[in-house]
Amino acid sequence: MQPLSIYQKIKSKLFTKYILRKNIPKEEIFLCGIVGYIGKSNKATEVLLSGLKNLEYRGYDSAGIAYIEDGELKITKAVGPIANLESKTDFSSQSSMGIGHTRWATHGQPSIINSHPHHIGKMTIIHNGIIENYIELKEWLKGVGYIFNSETDTEVACALLDYLYEDQKDMTIAIRQFEEKAKGAYAIVAICQDDLEELYVIKNMSPMIIGIGEGENYVASDVPAILKYTNRYIALEDMDYALISKDEIKLFDGTGKAKNVEVKTYMESAGAIDKNGYEHFMLKEIHEEPEIAKYLIKNYFENDGINYLPDITQYRQVSIVACGSAYHAGLVGKYFIEKNIGIPVSVEIASEFRYKKLFLDKNSLVIAISQSGETADTLAAIKIAKKNGSHTLGIVNVKESSIAREVDDVIYTEAGSEIAVATTKAYFAQSLILAFLSLRNKKYSRDIYQKIPFIIEELLERENVYNGIAERFKNCEHVFFLGRQVDYAICMEGSLKLKEISYIHSEAYPAGELKHGTISLIENDTPVFALISDETIAEKTISNIKEVKARGAYVILLINEELNLDGDFYDQKIVVPSCKIDELNSLLSIIPLQIIAYKIALLRECSIDKPRNLAKSVTVE
Ligand code: GLU
Repeated sequence: MQPLSIYQKIKSKLFTKYILRKNIPKEEIFLCGIVGYIGKSNKATEVLLSGLKNLEYRGYDSAGIAYIEDGELKITKAVGPIANLESKTDFSSQSSMGIGHTRWATHGQPSIINSHPHHIGKMTIIHNGIIENYIELKEWLKGVGYIFNSETDTEVACALLDYLYEDQKDMTIAIRQFEEKAKGAYAIVAICQDDLEELYVIKNMSPMIIGIGEGENYVASDVPAILKYTNRYIALEDMDYALISKDEIKLFDGTGKAKNVEVKTYMESAGAIDKNGYEHFMLKEIHEEPEIAKYLIKNYFENDGINYLPDITQYRQVSIVACGSAYHAGLVGKYFIEKNIGIPVSVEIASEFRYKKLFLDKNSLVIAISQSGETADTLAAIKIAKKNGSHTLGIVNVKESSIAREVDDVIYTEAGSEIAVATTKAYFAQSLILAFLSLRNKKYSRDIYQKIPFIIEELLERENVYNGIAERFKNCEHVFFLGRQVDYAICMEGSLKLKEISYIHSEAYPAGELKHGTISLIENDTPVFALISDETIAEKTISNIKEVKARGAYVILLINEELNLDGDFYDQKIVVPSCKIDELNSLLSIIPLQIIAYKIALLRECSIDKPRNLAKSVTVE
C-alpha cells in the first residue's frame, strides 16, 4: 500500500472532489472477464490464458478464447474452471492476436454455446455487462436475416456490430452507431475478419483498460490481469472506443473526437495478487487486517484524536446505501454515528433504495459503501441521491472507480487489492472507517488506537481454538448468530461469511427476536454464536442466550474482556481483548468469526476464494 496524496489534501482541509479527481492516480480498475493481445510475438494463447487465470478470482462459470492463426479464426471454449479451457488450448499455435473471456452468466445458462467469444458474420466479440435492449435488437436483427444460436445478449451485440459494419464498411462508424443503438453496460473487444491488424474496444459502464507494451498491446478488464507483461496502461472512460494495433492506440470519445492517450503506471506489484504462502487469498487477506488498521490509524490520527475525516455533524440525517457485506458495515456505522454524533441514520440495501420513496434533501448525507466502487445498484443509488440534492460520500476501496468518481467526497479504505470473492479485510476497513467517522470529535490517545492491530494479531494467533470449533461444526445444518445492537450488525456479517463460503445455512438474529419464531429451529447441539460487547445490554443478551441453551444449543460466547462474565450459559468462550474504545471493541469480534468461517469451509473442501455462483464485483442490477 503506497501513501497517497489524499491525506496531504485532507490535512490542508481541501477535502473536495476536485482535489480527489486531480490527484488520485487511476491505479486499480477491477472487474471480471476480459483479456486481449495484439503484438509482434506469437504468444497470444499464452497471454490470454495467463490473463484469464489472473481474473479467475472475480468469479465466472465458463471461459473462452478466440485467436487468429495463419489468417484463420480459432475459437476454444469450456464450461467450468479455466483449467478446462487450458486443457483444450493449443499452446503451440502461432498467433499474435486474440481475445479471451471469463463469463458470469446473466442471459442464458453457463454452456459452451452461451460462453464467449461469440462469432457472427465477420465479427467475433467478447463482452462484459448487459445489453438491456437486446430483445428488441434481436427481433430486428432476425428480421434482416440474422440467426442466433445462443440465449445471450452478447450474441445480439455481435450481430449488431456485424450488421453496422457490413452496412458502413467502416469499423469506426459502426462502433459509433453501435453506441447509439445498444443500451446498457458493455466492455467489448471485437475482431473484424476484414482487418486482422487491429483489435476494437468499446466501453460503457463496465471497466476496461489498455495495456501498453513494446511492439505489442493488451486489453483487460483490470490491470493485474496483464501485470506480468506490462504495468503501463490507459483507463477508458464511458463511451470511449479504441482501435488497437501492435504499434498504435487510437482512442476516441463517444462523439468520435480523438482523445489524447494518457499513459499511467500501475503501482501495486504483481505480488498483490499472490497468495504470499497462504493457502487461500481469503486467509491472506484476513491476516492483512492488522496492517490495514495500522495504516488507517496512522493516516487519520493526529494530536488528540481522529481528525482527518470529513465532519458530518451538520447533516440532519444520514442514509447509508450498500449491498452485501458493505451493507453490514453500514449497519455497524449506523449504531456508531447515531450514538456518537446523534444524527438519525438509515441503512438501505442499494437495490431497494433505488425504487423506494425517498425523503432526501440538501441537509441529508448519503454514504455509499463499496469495495470495488463499481457495484451497479450502489452507483445508481448515488446518482439518485445527487438528483435529490443530497451530499454524497463514498467509502470505497478501488481508487478512481465509478463510485469514487461519482460522489462528492470519497474516503478510500486503503485495504489493497482484495482477491477472495468473500470480503474480509475490505469489510473490516469499511467498518473501521465508519467507527473513525463517528469518533472524529472524541478524544482518545494514540496509544489506545495503536492497540487495535496488536489485538487483531492476538486474535489471529488462536489457531487451536478456531480449529476445534471448525471440527465440531463442520457437518452441521444450521448455525445461528445472536447479538443486540452493534453486535447484531456484526453477527450479520459473521453469518454471511459462514454461509457464503461453507454453504452451511446460517442466520443472524437480534438476540431478543429469536423467540418470536425461529427458536423452533434450535435443537440439541445447534451451534449458536453469541456476541456481547456492550455492558449496558449484556444482561439482556445473556437472558436470550439462556433461552437457546435451555433448548440444547451449543453456545460459543464472544465477549469483550472488560465484561468477561462467567456462568453456565455458554459452552465455549472467546474473550476479545479490549482497546478501551467501545466501538472498536465491538468491531474486533468479526476477526474470530471470519477465521472460523474460513476453517469450516476448509474442512468442507469448499472453493473458498471463489464460492459457487458468486462474483466479486456485481456490476449488474
Ligand atoms: N451478459 C453476457 C452474458 O450473459 C455477459 C456476461 C458477463 O459479463 O460475463 O453472456
